[in-house]
Amino acid sequence: FAVKGWTCNVCLVSNKDDAEKCVACAEPKPGLKKSTSKSAGGDSLQSIFKKPSGNWDCDVCLVPNKGDVTKCIACETPRPGTQPSSS
Ligand SMILES: [Zn+2]
Ligand SMILES: [Zn+2]
Repeated sequence: FAVKGWTCNVCLVSNKDDAEKCVACAEPKPGLKKSTSKSAGGDSLQSIFKKPSGNWDCDVCLVPNKGDVTKCIACETPRPGTQPSSS
């Protein structure tokens, strides 16, 4: 009977069709979607942590402000670290 399978294009070893990677060199099966590769999950996690971190406290009135506001909600003092665009 004809066994379905695939041939590793690195070491040319014959592998079973249900093997997701080469039994000899662990090369992924050709044509297999690389959704389970190591770098796939890392990117989405990084983008989450790239968000501006948290709240900040106004230097003038000490009111806590959200991370996405650029000036104090109470006294409109610009957020420390941001350059006011008035010149
Ligand atoms: Zn191989
Ligand atoms: Zn303030």
